[in-house]
Amino acid sequence: MDPLRLYTHPACLAHDPGAAHVERPARLQAVIEAVSAAFPAIDWRDAPRASRGQLSRVHDDALLARVLDTGIATGSEPLALDPDTSLGHGSAEAALRAAGAGVAAVDAVMAGDARRAFCAVRPPGHHATATTAMGFCLFNNIAVAAAHACDAHRLQRVAVVDFDVHHGNGTQAIFQSDPRVMYLSTHQSPLFPGSGGAEEQGVGNVINLPLAPGTSGGEFRAAWRDRLLPVLQGFRPQLLLVSAGFDGHRLDPLAQLELDADDYRWLTAELVAVAERHAQGRLVSMLEGGYDLAALRESSVAHVQALLG
Ligand code: ZN
Repeated sequence: MDPLRLYTHPACLAHDPGAAHVERPARLQAVIEAVSAAFPAIDWRDAPRASRGQLSRVHDDALLARVLDTGIATGSEPLALDPDTSLGHGSAEAALRAAGAGVAAVDAVMAGDARRAFCAVRPPGHHATATTAMGFCLFNNIAVAAAHACDAHRLQRVAVVDFDVHHGNGTQAIFQSDPRVMYLSTHQSPLFPGSGGAEEQGVGNVINLPLAPGTSGGEFRAAWRDRLLPVLQGFRPQLLLVSAGFDGHRLDPLAQLELDADDYRWLTAELVAVAERHAQGRLVSMLEGGYDLAALRESSVAHVQALLG
């Protein structure tokens, strides 16, 4: 069994939402280069495409058709789906590979081929709802992975832990009536997309902990240690999925939290411990946001180091 398996795909670098867009290919390039340099012995797997059937577990036919069948010609300008979210020539293939990475990673940890996995992919996913691409996200990669774990592997308790600085409104909306999936999130508030208040609790399976701008690493750790990790332990997840956004880093241009790479290392190690205790070690992490390249490099290396145990 591999202690950690890494997934990515060159197609994820070819999703081009426009020259000035902050969710740019250089983000993923930085993560891949930094993780490869720090851990040269870990081999990377090419992410397969998600199937339409796998995507249909969480998305409606209209969104699948919009992303997959629009057909943007090579060299033409990206099509704006909303003011933040665009579809370019390479976007459909990138979206299929990003979602497919999570499915493959779930299969690998469930089969015992790998203990944990990290999917270095883009576009990110956690803002995409069942019907709508938004917030730089086309398909909700982590939701596709969670639904695959529940349906294909018959799991009854899957936890999605989301430490991206933005609230994963799409993931919450997709699972807020499904008690098989628990969604736990810290996120800055106020901030896009505006959801994620503590009163949003689903059917008791949604735990939101908004953080004020300026929240320190110590406060972030205390929130997880005292509030969220005990709830996660009580859920006894059979599989941990992680929406790993590194835009809470103090250098990030889109938000105002004061985290650093050591905070991500700490939380990741805590999540690994929960997975070891309840889920036979099974943990799949997927890259979400993070828009400062230096912060992305050091945070993703810290995250992967903790995933290695
Ligand atoms: Zn984010």
